[in-house]
Amino acid sequence: MALQKPKGTQDILPGKVEAWQYVEQVARDLFADYAVKEVRTPIFEHYEVVCRVGDSTDIVQKEMYDFYDKGDRHITLRPEGTSPVVRAYVEHKLFGNDFLKPYKTYYIGPMFRYERPQAGRLRQFHQIGVEMFGSENPATDVEGISMALEYFSRLGIKDLKLVINTLGDKDSRLRYREALIAYLEPLQDKMSEDSKRRLYQNPLRVLDSKEPEDKEIVANAPSILDYLNEESAAHFAEVKAMLEELNIDYIIDTNMVRGLDYYNHTIFEIMSDSKAFDGKLTTVCAGGRYNGLVEELGGPEVPSFGFASGVERILLTLEAENIELPIDDSLDVYIVGIGQEVNVETLKLALALRHQGYKVERDYLNRKPKAQFKTANKMNARFVLTLGLDELEKQEINLKNMNTGEQKTVPLASIYEDFNALYMEMMEEA
Ligand code: ATP
Ligand code: MG
Repeated sequence: MALQKPKGTQDILPGKVEAWQYVEQVARDLFADYAVKEVRTPIFEHYEVVCRVGDSTDIVQKEMYDFYDKGDRHITLRPEGTSPVVRAYVEHKLFGNDFLKPYKTYYIGPMFRYERPQAGRLRQFHQIGVEMFGSENPATDVEGISMALEYFSRLGIKDLKLVINTLGDKDSRLRYREALIAYLEPLQDKMSEDSKRRLYQNPLRVLDSKEPEDKEIVANAPSILDYLNEESAAHFAEVKAMLEELNIDYIIDTNMVRGLDYYNHTIFEIMSDSKAFDGKLTTVCAGGRYNGLVEELGGPEVPSFGFASGVERILLTLEAENIELPIDDSLDVYIVGIGQEVNVETLKLALALRHQGYKVERDYLNRKPKAQFKTANKMNARFVLTLGLDELEKQEINLKNMNTGEQKTVPLASIYEDFNALYMEMMEEA
C-alpha cells in the first residue's frame, strides 16, 4: 500500500512553495523595518512549557500533540509560538541589562494542533508571529497592531476588519469574572455543554462560544469595560487614542477573548471576510498583551505584547482575492546541447554561468533540440545557448533571445569571459 501524508498536513511542492517564500519574505522585510529580529526555537518542548497549571483552553486541553519520549519525558509538539519564545527568553535571561529593551523577536514556522481538518484548519500549520518584551507602553500595543496591519497591506490584502478588546489586568479581570459567573449561573440550563463546563473554569470563554444558544445569552452579558480599574481603563483609552491618531479603523468587541489564557489588557484580531472561508469571517491574525507569562515561566515580571498570523489562511485569502504575487520563477539561460560529444562542454558552461550569477539549466537526457527548446520555454528561459559538435569544433555557440527571437553566433570564450556583456547587449537591442 502506498503511504499518504498524515491527516491535516500538506506537502508544499515546488510551484506552490514560491508563494510561501514570498509571504515569508514580505514578513522578514517588514520586521527588519520594525527592528524585530528572528528567533528559532525547537518545534517540540517540555509539555509544561505550553500547558501551565489552570489553563483550561481548548488548545491545551484537547489539541496538543503530546507524547512521552524514550526517556519518559512528557513532550509536546508546539501548538503555538508564544510560550516557547517566552521559555527561551527566560532561559537565556534576555531580560538582562545586556539586551535591548524592548526585546523584539519574530518567528516563522510550523505549529501542531490536533483539530478537525477543514479549509484553513490543519494539524500542521504555520505561523508568522512577533513577541515584544519589556514595554508597558500602550504605543507597543499599537505598534504591534499596526505592524500586523501593514503586513497585510504590503501583501495587497484588503477588506480586513480590526477588532480589539481589553481583558484588563488581573484585578479587573477577577472582578469581571465574578460578575460574569453571577450573570451566567441562573442561565446555565440553557447553555451548551461546553459552556456549562467552562462556567466556573473559564467563564470568559463562554463569551466567544459559537453555539447559537450561548450567543443569545452572552448578548446581554455584563461588559468587561465596566469592570476595568483605573489603570486598565487608562491603558485601553491610550491604545484607542493612538489608533485614532494613526487613522486606523477598529471595532470594539467586548465579547472577544483569546484561545490562550495568558492574555491581559489589549487583545486584537484581524478578520477577513474573504470567499476563501465560505463567507464566514475568519481570523487571519490575532494577538495581544500578556504581562504575566514571563513570570509564570520562571522569569521576572516583564510586560509583553505579541501576535501570530496563520500562513495557510494568508495564502487562502491571497488566492480568493486573486492577488497576483510578484514571483519570478524565470531562468536566465537554458543550454541546449546536441549530441553526447558536447556533454562535458555544456556541463562546464552551465557551471561557469552559474558562477557568474545566472540561473541556468541544461539538458541531461540527450533529447532532441526541439524537446530541449520546449523545456526552455516551460522554464521561462530568457536566453538559450545552443551547442552542437560543429559549433564546438569552431569554438562558437549560438545565443538566442527567447523574447525577441533574435539570434547570433558568438565565440564560446566570450560566454566564459563575460556573459553579462552579451546579455546586456542583447537586452538593449530588444
Ligand atoms: P481559531 O479560533 O480559528 O481556532 P485560534 O484562536 O485557535 O483560532 P490562535 O491560537 O490565535 O488561533 O492562532 C493565531 C492564528 O493562527 C489564527 O488566527 C489562524 O490564522 C492560525 N491558526 C490557528 N489554528 C490553526 C489551524 N489549525 N490551522 C491553520 N491555521 C491556524
Ligand atoms: Mg483554535
